[in-house]
Amino acid sequence: MKTLQAPHLEQVSCALCGSKDSSLLFQVVDRALGVPGVFGVVQCMTCGLVYTSPRPIREDLGKCYPSESYFGLDGTRNIAPEEVPGLLSVGKQRGERLKSLLLESGYSYPLQVKSHFKSVLNFTSGLWTRFATLHPRFRIPSFTEQGRLLEIGIGCGQDLLRFAVLGWHVIGSDLSPDTCRFVRANLSLDTFQAEADQLGIPEHTFDALYLHHVFEHLPDPRRALAEFVRVLKPNGQLVMEVPNFDCAQSRRYRKDWRALEVPRHLYHYTPKTITSFLKQAGLKDVQVMPVIASPVNVFCANIPPTVASDQQHQNVWWRSFLITFPLYFVGPVFGLGDSIFVTARS
Ligand SMILES: [Zn+2]
Repeated sequence: MKTLQAPHLEQVSCALCGSKDSSLLFQVVDRALGVPGVFGVVQCMTCGLVYTSPRPIREDLGKCYPSESYFGLDGTRNIAPEEVPGLLSVGKQRGERLKSLLLESGYSYPLQVKSHFKSVLNFTSGLWTRFATLHPRFRIPSFTEQGRLLEIGIGCGQDLLRFAVLGWHVIGSDLSPDTCRFVRANLSLDTFQAEADQLGIPEHTFDALYLHHVFEHLPDPRRALAEFVRVLKPNGQLVMEVPNFDCAQSRRYRKDWRALEVPRHLYHYTPKTITSFLKQAGLKDVQVMPVIASPVNVFCANIPPTVASDQQHQNVWWRSFLITFPLYFVGPVFGLGDSIFVTARS
């Protein structure tokens, strides 16, 4: 077992408005991975942004990720190479048919599903795509012919592989060289090691950028967004999901809310504050929507992610399709949307 090192801490001012005036909401320790230290979660008195301060200095952020299982690199969330051909048959298997039909009609994916309903779906896509977005399967960019997609923060590469299967030219970046190597070796996908706010890529390279629960980890969101705008082609899509600090679970459990994830989460966004960041960066067509990332975030809302899987195995009653599927659509109506799905264009 690795000895955990305490990161050096610093106080920071508000990244949204620059104000130094903040009020302490609560102090918090790392319940998930046990990184030593006492961190603060504060709220800006001027604009309302909630952020971690004191927080680890940039050079010590690596100390906050001591476990490989955090990214699924220990194999617990890995796709086995023999499963890849199964994914490639998307749209052809029976259960995948409806999903593929919706992806084709609402999101322009060229899956060539044959169905009599196709023209009706095409005609009404404006009505149902926003509703479909409540389900994680549909929280993806619309398809661009010959499009290039960059995923920032790739974990074990599952989403990147999915986009490749769906027809994108994909490349993934990550701060961790181990993660990049893992995804290259196991999934044969292009990756490169970089800080999200310094990608080292020519401007106007990508049609879509995708960040799944990554943006809240970035120490300088303004600089990161400026970099995203730079590498996106004009009218390119930015698609992200971040935890929603303004949800019922967060209000109920406060410092024990599982998605607080301090010291790895440096910002705790609400629909209002994330919108302000995106608009400030000059992005347009900004849309934010509270959604449920996973039912485990509702039923195990105060259990750290690293412990939740044991708990999940003990309490299986809520894992039935009849509970979890409707929850995605009904939960956000009752304020249970623990994440924010964000789309914008450059
Ligand atoms: Zn502020």
